[in-house]
Amino acid sequence: MIIVLKAGSTEAELEDVCQRIRGMGYTPHTIRGELRSVIGAVGDDRVKERLKSLESLECVELVQPILQPFKLASREVRNEPTRVRVGDVTIGGDRLAIMAGPCSVESREQLLDVAGRVKDAGATILRGGAFKPRTSPYAFQGLEEEGLKLLDEARRETGLPVVTEVMEPDKVDVVAEHADILQIGARNVQNFSLLRRVAETKKPVLLKRGMSTSIQEWLLSAEYVLAGGNPNVILCERGIRTFETATRFTLDLNAIPVVKKLSHLPIVVDPSHGTGHWEYVEAMAMAAIAAGADGLIIEVHPRPAEALSDGPQSLKPDRFAQVVAKIRRVAAALDRTV
Ligand code: PEP
Ligand code: MN
Repeated sequence: MIIVLKAGSTEAELEDVCQRIRGMGYTPHTIRGELRSVIGAVGDDRVKERLKSLESLECVELVQPILQPFKLASREVRNEPTRVRVGDVTIGGDRLAIMAGPCSVESREQLLDVAGRVKDAGATILRGGAFKPRTSPYAFQGLEEEGLKLLDEARRETGLPVVTEVMEPDKVDVVAEHADILQIGARNVQNFSLLRRVAETKKPVLLKRGMSTSIQEWLLSAEYVLAGGNPNVILCERGIRTFETATRFTLDLNAIPVVKKLSHLPIVVDPSHGTGHWEYVEAMAMAAIAAGADGLIIEVHPRPAEALSDGPQSLKPDRFAQVVAKIRRVAAALDRTV
């Protein structure tokens, strides 16, 4: 249920309403708007009618049900776009977030080389996987903790915040010590115990869409993080499975306007996994920004032919710089910047 307070309600009144909501067995989530505050009360849907009694309070304008199954992720609860702040970078504002770096952290030399070059090209966030979810148990599984330390070094050298994947609840604390943004991979989008654990860290979460996850299921996964008390969720469309085999996945650009309509959360697009081929990355990156995405996450490798994972979809640094230059022009046409 949404409890809309009257304009000019005091902090004490807001706290009083929150206490009453807790007393009824619900968790209040306060959203402070410019004019008035709104409280999302989440909990057992079956007895939500009890919350209606709050309408008798002087400071309450109205109490109404949230129609979507995802509540805190919904535009019904919060209409203003959410901006996620990571250091000096804001994701969800007029400036696009450009995340770039290798699929996997492979060595100190590889990471520092590519980190410096993506920064020079205009990237604002460094990506790099230390724990890798590989389809085959025989494939390179990542440098794990050593990779996290190399990401720290790359952050120190470039000043770029770091996004890196966490795959297991038991590793959330160690990854959170090194990461600025915790990435939940496509294969873990419905790992609900992992979602609850990353919520506890309060760190920004990049939540990839599963390759077979509907938009509604994806937003319900985001809801786990929000309901766990962490409002810093960035959605990432990375392609879904279809009958098409010419590309690795089918990048669902429809998801951008659909998510924008349903949710206030920022959405970025991953044209690297979405296509699986470096030649298609530029076109889909531009299309994603034209469709309203808040940023991109792109795989870049100094020598893609030697990459230990996802070489075929990785851009060389020079090509990445060209893509960013084109993105700047698309962004400018939309009154956005890079
Ligand atoms: C990745 O970012 O390298 C990755 C494994 O992505 P996804 O979870 O989207 O497959
Ligand atoms: Mn990858």
